[in-house]
Amino acid sequence: MVKFHYKCTDCGKEYKRDEVRYLCPLCEKSYKPGIPLKGVLETVFDYEEIHKNFKKEAPDWTLFSAVEKEYYPPFAVGNTPFIKVDRLGQQLGFSNLWVKNDGLNPSGSLKDRASFLLVAEANRLHENIVVTASTGNAASALAAVCASAGKQAVIFVPAAAPKAKLVQIILSGAKIIPIKGTYDDAFDFSLEYTKVRQGLNRNTAYHPLTIEGKKTVGLEIFAQNGFKIPDVIVVPVGDGVIISGVWKAFHDLKMARLIQEMPRIICIQAEKSNAIHNYIVSGQYKNAENPDTIADSISVSVPSNAHMARRAVLATNGFSLTVSDEELLDGQALLARTTGIFAEPTAAAVVAGLSKIAEKKLVAKDKQIALLVTGHGLKDIDAPLTRIKMPAAIEPKLEALDKL
Ligand SMILES: *Cc1c(COP(=O)(O)O)cnc(C)c1O
Ligand SMILES: [Zn+2]
Repeated sequence: MVKFHYKCTDCGKEYKRDEVRYLCPLCEKSYKPGIPLKGVLETVFDYEEIHKNFKKEAPDWTLFSAVEKEYYPPFAVGNTPFIKVDRLGQQLGFSNLWVKNDGLNPSGSLKDRASFLLVAEANRLHENIVVTASTGNAASALAAVCASAGKQAVIFVPAAAPKAKLVQIILSGAKIIPIKGTYDDAFDFSLEYTKVRQGLNRNTAYHPLTIEGKKTVGLEIFAQNGFKIPDVIVVPVGDGVIISGVWKAFHDLKMARLIQEMPRIICIQAEKSNAIHNYIVSGQYKNAENPDTIADSISVSVPSNAHMARRAVLATNGFSLTVSDEELLDGQALLARTTGIFAEPTAAAVVAGLSKIAEKKLVAKDKQIALLVTGHGLKDIDAPLTRIKMPAAIEPKLEALDKL
């Protein structure tokens, strides 16, 4: 395994692997519930070591892993398809449009990647309980990976999470604790729980390996694209950890001198759950007052990783857009109709965002664009059901058919 240490993204202080577990202890002192996390740790590898050992002919991706392979749980995450979607491209006027379909992970979302690495870390630390707060997908992912590894998942979710996600959590044998309140309330409560009670906390960005787990999606895009970077990657953003993970993948590749340039990273948020978007556009951070959206996976008032997410966009000459719930559902339908991919409303934000990018001519027609589809449509069928009309049933007779 390649050596690594942690570095605080706020004050720059460096820590050995087992010297810290969650946030930078110095910066954590100024963190309180109601603001984005302070002192989020970045994993810094020995990049020369990666450079020396990485071979394109037989790539060893564990060189980029912050947990030894021997601790990996028996759960097959990632290696999801990366495909060119010409029919969608034609609709929107782009000639080199691709989808990374991460809804095809075992529990149906990209969150499997972070939960996988966290459970590996729990194995290394001999922790039998892993705790998380989640809008739903991180919890169903953690519940599934814990089931594969024989660990106990303890899950705090807002009581209003989509039913399919709750069913997944319960069937996987997790201990589920629905919270009267929002995802933000569940987040704060779970921190208190692991501080005072027990377990390894998997809250997004709070544990630095959530970013490392999610970065594997970026490494895969690079590999599946013939060891080239796409020009642009479009990411749906809630807490800002997936987008930071995408940035981290290409940052690691660049530091290891395997690429020269970074792709432009584009942030898409829901109109009302727009704290990171506002922060990128105005430079001023402000909580989203009422993050009410059908895109439940990106509904958050206080995004835990706001600072790093903003940096990912600004450092790569990216930009940020918001989309309305109507646009999300239009995007979901357009994606399904032109590619056959059924994405949850949150994941379809990237299609809605791309429609706006096309309208505003923000990216040239011939650039290679990768849309990150983060979650499966079967996770939440209630949202699109509001606008679907099921035809009435008829007798199985041709006359009945002709009368329609
Ligand atoms: C969690 C999630 C996101 C957003 O990821 P963040 O790291 O919170 O920004 C996007 N799409 C889906 C399907 C998710 O579950
Ligand atoms: Zn610090």
